[in-house]
Amino acid sequence: MSALPFLPFTRPSIDEQTIAEVGAVLRSGWITTGPKCQALEAALSQRLGARPVRLVNSGTAALELGLRLCGIGPGDEVITTPLSWVATANVVLAVGATPVFVDTDARTRNIDLEQIERAITPRTRALIPVDLAGLPVDRDRLYALAHKHGLRVIEDAAQSFGARWGAREIGSFGDLVSFSFHPNKNMTTSEGGCLVLNNEDEALRFEQLRLQGVIRLADGGMEVPQWGAKANLTDVAAAIGLGQLRQVDAFNQRRRVLAQRYFACWDAALGFELPPQDRAGHGNWHMFQPLLPRDLAARRGEFIAAMREQGIGVGVHYPAMHLFQLFRARGYAPGDFPVAEDIGARTITLPLFPTMDNVDVDRVCAAVARACAALRGATIQ
Ligand SMILES: *Cc1c(COP(=O)(O)O)cnc(C)c1O
Repeated sequence: MSALPFLPFTRPSIDEQTIAEVGAVLRSGWITTGPKCQALEAALSQRLGARPVRLVNSGTAALELGLRLCGIGPGDEVITTPLSWVATANVVLAVGATPVFVDTDARTRNIDLEQIERAITPRTRALIPVDLAGLPVDRDRLYALAHKHGLRVIEDAAQSFGARWGAREIGSFGDLVSFSFHPNKNMTTSEGGCLVLNNEDEALRFEQLRLQGVIRLADGGMEVPQWGAKANLTDVAAAIGLGQLRQVDAFNQRRRVLAQRYFACWDAALGFELPPQDRAGHGNWHMFQPLLPRDLAARRGEFIAAMREQGIGVGVHYPAMHLFQLFRARGYAPGDFPVAEDIGARTITLPLFPTMDNVDVDRVCAAVARACAALRGATIQ
């Protein structure tokens, strides 16, 4: 239909300097965990209030090993949101504990803090809040709840790197904070992630958990006091991360401008529900996600196809996960979390990444109007 290039819903931005630095690592003779990982950990720590930061090979590993660090396992319950990437609950299953879902708030689409208390039992050990689309969960209320009930918090901040709560950056305060550096996130290491920890003792124990439980001894020998995973990051990946970290604030600023452009060009008459506009500026606009109008809710596949025909990629992040077979088999059913189910059924992710221009946003807005008209059997010029 048009000669314009396909616009995906996201695309990483890797500059030539970063590519050259990755090349230098490949030529260096040392390509696994080494000086680049150390440098990236130091740079992240410096950014996040000098808290210890340790890299791993995925956000999922950061969450799972964070749970293990807290000693969470069989018999324990962990409260989280049904509106997230399935990794958030899979890690709870991985350590042998039970994920307990709580419905989401209709406005923020994050876990409904009002409803958490009712889900707490004597077995509850931790909360895993998720900052969906980079909009932070209210940290004041979250930590008030956690302290009141003596719960650990493993923040799943996979989507909120660079976001803030008040004046403080996410990751610079709180309990354990997990980031993902998957290519779709606001900064990437290709694959990778990290955990922000409370002190050096936790950091040391986490280092053992991420690599076979090994402690290196001064005499060149080793000891293995506990089980450990194989989850270390490579210097090839860390070199990408160092390049990304230089640019992530500019990336996030660009995302904020593009999100505002969506609000400006959007036709309210189409009947979508837009995400909260985030006037406090807390978020990092990891994604821009309108909810389909109710008359088109059952036709998301057709809508996505109509956008694709116009050269525009649309994602779905996420269907409410308690409705997946994995969790239905554990007793969850439709109707358990009506807010999350409604959002999960109608959400669409529109293109938003730092190399987009305002005219790309305008193109998406026009395509949305055309797709709606086509589905509703109308014609527009
Ligand atoms: C991406 C993501 C993860 C998992 O990160 P990986 O690096 O892909 O393992 C976990 N939780 C949320 C909310 C995410 O968006």
